Amino acid sequence: MPAALAKNILKLAQNGLDWLLPPLCPATGQEVDAHGTVAYDYWASLRFIRKPYCSQCALPFPHDLGGVQPEGLICAACMEYPPTFRRARAALIYDDASRKIILRYKSGDQLQAVRAFVPWMREAGADVLAEADVLVPVPLHRFRLLRRRYNQSALLAQRLGRPVCVDALERIKRTVPQGSLSRKERDKNVRGAFRVNPARVGQIAGKTVLLVDDVFTTGATLNACADALYKAGAAAVDVLAIARVPKD
Ligand SMILES: [Zn+2]
Repeated sequence: MPAALAKNILKLAQNGLDWLLPPLCPATGQEVDAHGTVAYDYWASLRFIRKPYCSQCALPFPHDLGGVQPEGLICAACMEYPPTFRRARAALIYDDASRKIILRYKSGDQLQAVRAFVPWMREAGADVLAEADVLVPVPLHRFRLLRRRYNQSALLAQRLGRPVCVDALERIKRTVPQGSLSRKERDKNVRGAFRVNPARVGQIAGKTVLLVDDVFTTGATLNACADALYKAGAAAVDVLAIARVPKD
């Protein structure tokens, strides 16, 4: 079947399902007004990242500057350990509230949460999206990909309205889960873990690349991905995530 036809059939099936099923909040399961939205109380519990934040890593600053974002404002952590990527943006603070929807999305239980995430990410990442030539998702471990059957970062990237290269990055080293590791151990764990797929170098060299991930934790994985993209000749590497862990 031609790809375009298959896509249209999928779209029809999706719209048909929308019509058949009541829209439910992907975080709480409550009925909501429209597909792609979350329950109001749940939405009100989320902490959206607002200015001012670190222009490099999107860490919010505690002081209210009246919604003003001073040019080039950098946090202490970025001064001490400058990230490899140029700028990161994230829609939400990763906390108990946002963890709920993100984990349901990552487990594959609530894939339709992608429809709520996309407008939030478009708003938070307006500047990095506007400059991006190509979006590249952070790749999963092959065995994790098998277990989950999809890469949730690729699913996000494909809906952000910019050209996407889904298989630009490859994992070339087995890494251990980062959860219990210190910052230094995380850096070591993922250093050299990625490379640009040799067949995709032409789509990366000279380009402004936007890395797409679900949760920005310490940035160790994102730094390692950015390293690989720069090595392949990327002109600049930015990052866009659903949520950001507030600090180590
Ligand atoms: Zn920072």
